[in-house]
Amino acid sequence: MNSLFSLEGKTALVTGASRGLGQGIAVGLAKAGADIIGVGTRSLENTRKEVEAAGGTFYELISDLSKEDAAEKLAADAIAVKGRVDVLVNNAGIIRRSEAENFSNDDWFDVINVNQHAVFQLSREIGKHMLENQSGKIINIASMLSYQGGLKVPAYTASKHAVAGLTKSLANEWSSKGVNVNAIAPGYMATDNTAPIREDESRNAYITSRIPQGRWGTPEDLQGAAVFLASDASDYVNGHVLNVDGGWMSS
Ligand code: NAP
Repeated sequence: MNSLFSLEGKTALVTGASRGLGQGIAVGLAKAGADIIGVGTRSLENTRKEVEAAGGTFYELISDLSKEDAAEKLAADAIAVKGRVDVLVNNAGIIRRSEAENFSNDDWFDVINVNQHAVFQLSREIGKHMLENQSGKIINIASMLSYQGGLKVPAYTASKHAVAGLTKSLANEWSSKGVNVNAIAPGYMATDNTAPIREDESRNAYITSRIPQGRWGTPEDLQGAAVFLASDASDYVNGHVLNVDGGWMSS
């Protein structure tokens, strides 16, 4: 049974691995045996320590995915590290908050570039490599706002709906060629991304009261879903958006 979920001998490229959910996913994949190539805009030493403490091997690549040519260069650099990438986790993401009527073009494009455009570009480039290998797993990090509208986050919501759509679009093209494309939609998770809404007492209380499991999620809560979607256990799972949300979408 363990071999079904084993990632021994696999190399996983995880964007946004410096902290938060990406760090948790990187450690989870390492625990299952994968070598990790972690990506962030600055040093990922904390993640290196955690991955190595979990018994894994860690390679660091610095890349600012808001830049137009970053994803293509990152894909080439990542493939060069070990000669192949078996798992891609498109996790890097940002959020900007403002009333829709005042939402600036700069904020719109900053969010769309990282959360949507770079996800497409990196999937295309690593996808080509996986198609050549006739094998690969792509895991996109979606959101509850892949389904819902959210409040004061129009670009984020648009980008996360796009991530869900892109997941299905790529799965339709690549499922028969050995490449599985799926997404994880985390619920409300305690990270830097959500610090402002956790600091808002009434919003925090409302959100917590709507989560059937009664608590915010943690980066560790995503590890099981990530290992499943990265491993042979999910070989017949395609274009699926897996909620890991403490029951939020059922409530
Ligand atoms: P976080 O703690 O703010 O971490 C964001 C990560 O993305 C960091 O590693 C950051 O790297 C990286 N990143 C940001 N901009 C980047 C850029 N231009 N180029 C490369 N990397 C960049 O956020 P999080 O909560 O862990 O979120 C991770 C993913 O989960 C995002 O896609 C987010 O939308 C999604 N998500 C989060 C929640 C939640 O409740 N937290 C819920 C649903 C979905 P640096 O450290 O170098 O800046």
